[in-house]
Order: sequence, then structure tokens, then C-alpha cells
Amino acid sequence: MALSGLDIFKLLPKTNCGECKLPTCLAFAMKLAGGQAKLEECPHVSDEAKAALADAAAPPIAEVIIGQGAKEFKTGAELVLFRHEKRFVNPTGMAVLISDAMSDDEVKAKVEQADKDAWERVGQHLEVKMLAVKCESGDAGKFKDLLTKVNGMTELALMPMTEDPEVMKAAVEAVGDKNPLLYCATAANLEAMGAIAKEKNLPLVVRGDGLDSLAEVSEKATGMELKNLVLDPGTRNLKETLEALIAIRRGALNSKFKPFGFPTIAFPCEETDDVYFEGALSGIYIAKYADIVVTSEADAWMQYPLQVEIQNIYTDPQKPMAVDAKFYEIGTPGPDSPVLVTTNFSLTYFIVSGEIEASKVDSWLGIVDSEGQSVLTAWAAGKFVPDIIAKFINTSGIADKVNHRKLVIPGYVAQISGELDEELTNWEVLIGPREAADISAYLRNWSAS
Ligand code: SF4
Repeated sequence: MALSGLDIFKLLPKTNCGECKLPTCLAFAMKLAGGQAKLEECPHVSDEAKAALADAAAPPIAEVIIGQGAKEFKTGAELVLFRHEKRFVNPTGMAVLISDAMSDDEVKAKVEQADKDAWERVGQHLEVKMLAVKCESGDAGKFKDLLTKVNGMTELALMPMTEDPEVMKAAVEAVGDKNPLLYCATAANLEAMGAIAKEKNLPLVVRGDGLDSLAEVSEKATGMELKNLVLDPGTRNLKETLEALIAIRRGALNSKFKPFGFPTIAFPCEETDDVYFEGALSGIYIAKYADIVVTSEADAWMQYPLQVEIQNIYTDPQKPMAVDAKFYEIGTPGPDSPVLVTTNFSLTYFIVSGEIEASKVDSWLGIVDSEGQSVLTAWAAGKFVPDIIAKFINTSGIADKVNHRKLVIPGYVAQISGELDEELTNWEVLIGPREAADISAYLRNWSAS
């Protein structure tokens, strides 16, 4: 049973020392109760209090780490049902399926494609997270060879898939040091699979045959002190999978039902032979609430739209996406190149820089810190106003890089040009286009003289 903020407060030292970066112990207790702080952030909690607070400090859905090194990824740890309540924490991890029934060429092509599936979008890096490697042959030696080979080709996290504990032992011999996600423990093999996972402290998928049996297997697994679980309800059609994913999330968050307090995995690749429908299923499961989605396709036509969906769902609605405030070189600008300025809202930066690139006019693009707001919003909020822009220009060093003194501001804030002229006495303020789409034409006609 989760403790309230006041219950937690009673167990804290009540010295208000501030070392947790909050002004009082009460503020810390409230944050801890809301899942916005971690118990370790208070260095003064007694061991007795720690034990009593363990329940309150634990997130309702465990965070599970899969893989290692640069390609390690985290899943779970979600705190809310709806993004607008706070934010979602760990983006859905996309996995691509390969198997030992595939030819060497097929495996190579899938691994290489999944490995290179990575995109920079609005300042974020999007990529496939894992390869699900399925044993269809039942041959432990063949499966081990495949895993060894795949492991040599990629640093992506791996998920060996077999229900045979002997085959899984061979898989762990091959890639156990890479912190793979083992798939899977069922009611029939839990004891043996659980022992394999426990020996190396590896994350393990537990699969049920519907929600009731999933709860049973999960409860038994936690009884074996397995803490890094991922839940597969075992459903393999849209209606049942969607219902199960929602029920698991609600059960964990609303009812604090411990057996469902783990991230989930969905297999659209096993629900249809139609790859386009599989893409649609994947999109639905990402929205509600699959933490890992396994697809058969590594190609960008399927992965990229899904990655964009994930990015849209998992960005923090309370935090505008922003890029660093500084001058960016678009192309290879020189002393006669145009100097433009705009706000640090990511979308603004990427649209404006994209249009400058398209113009093929090498330019200096100054990004002013406007707390991630777009041009008009930032102006209205007093974040993109003459004195702030002037200070940015005067401290940026751009005057040493160009021979001219012409500064292009967005057309939407034409009204500040007079005041900005007064602030930047050595500069001539030019009013650029209102719409980014007109930047190309504007720059092609721009002249430093
Ligand atoms: S660090 Fe601990 S004792 Fe200090 S204010 Fe925070 S909660 Fe209270």
C-alpha cells in the first residue's frame, strides 16, 4: 500500500537541511509520494525509515535495464496513465525479429538494417533498440551460433527467444554478458528459466495465457526474487492485446497491483502476416501502452513513422523542446554571409535551418534563449525582445566573424525592429520573411553590400 506524503514526512529526519535540493523535508516527502523524487536523494534517512519507505519509494512500475554500453536502454518506470498528467518516462523500445530459420543473407540484411535505423529529429536521436532472436529450430548449438554471430555484428541489445531452458542456457553462454532480455518464462518452465535469469541477474519476460495466468506467473517470479521482469499477456490479436495492455497499466497504477508493476511487451509481428497491418498494430500498441514492440520489419518505411509516434508521445509536455542558444553555422558561412536570428524552440530551429540549407546560401543562424518558445509566444512572454536579442548579439562574438553589420529578424516580430536598432547601434536590423517557406527566396536576394 503506497504511503501518503504525510506518512513519509513522519519518517524523515525533519531537519530541513536542503541537501535533497528541496527547501523542506515536507516538500521532499510530497515529491517522493508523487514519484518525482528518489529516496537516495536524502542522505540522512535511517535504515529503519528506508525499510519502511521502500514501498513508497518504489515506482509503481519497475524500471528494467536491457542491453549494455552505448546501446543499453531503459523501459518501464511509468507513473501516469495519461501524458498530460505529468509525462511518460521511457520511450517504447522498438525491436526487430530474426530467427534461426532465416538464411544467413536474411539475418545479415535484417541486422544491418536494424543497426543503421537511426534518425536525428528535432534534436533527438531515434533508433531501433533491440533484436529479438528466435529459436525456431529447437537446436541449442545452432541457436548459440546465430546469437554469437549476431552479437559480433551489432551492439544492439538482444532478446533470445526460446521456451526450452536448455536452449536458453546455450543462449546465455553466447550473449549472457550483454545483459540480454530472456524470452520467456511461462507457468510450465518458470522454475528453470527463473533460475537461469537469477544466476546472471538478467531481465526476463514472463508470459501468461491471458491476464489471470500472467498475474500468477509474475507473482511466482517475484517470489523467486526476480525483480527485472517484462510482461507478455500472451494475447495475439488486436482486441485482446489492447485490452490486456490497458488493464496491466491500469492495474499497476490505479490498483497498485504488484504482479502488473512491470513494463510490457507486444508482438504485432505474431498477430498478422500483413506487414502493413503489422505497422498499424504497432502504432496502436505504442499509444496504449506497450513498453517494447517487436516487429518483423527493420525497414525505415515501418520504423521511422513509429519512431516519430514514440517521440511525439514521450516528449515531456511540461518542457518545451529547445536547442542550445548560440550561433550555428549553416553550410560554411564566411564574413559576407547573412546573419539571422530566431528563438531556441526546437521546431523553429529545425524549420529555419532546413530552409536556409535549402537556399544553399551559407549563413550564420543565431539562436536566442527564449525558454523553448516559438517566435511570437516568446515575444509576447518578453523572452525574444530587443534587450535580450541585443545582449545575445553583443556577447556572441558574431561581430568578429562578419564584415557587415546586418541582422535579419523574423518577420513576425517586425514591430521590435526600431527598438532593436536603438539597442544595437552598430547594426542595421532587417525584417526577414514571416513564413519560413519564404526564407530561401529571401536569402537568394540578400546582399551584404
Ligand atoms: S535532505 Fe533529507 S533531511 Fe535534508 S531536507 Fe531533504 S529530506 Fe529533509
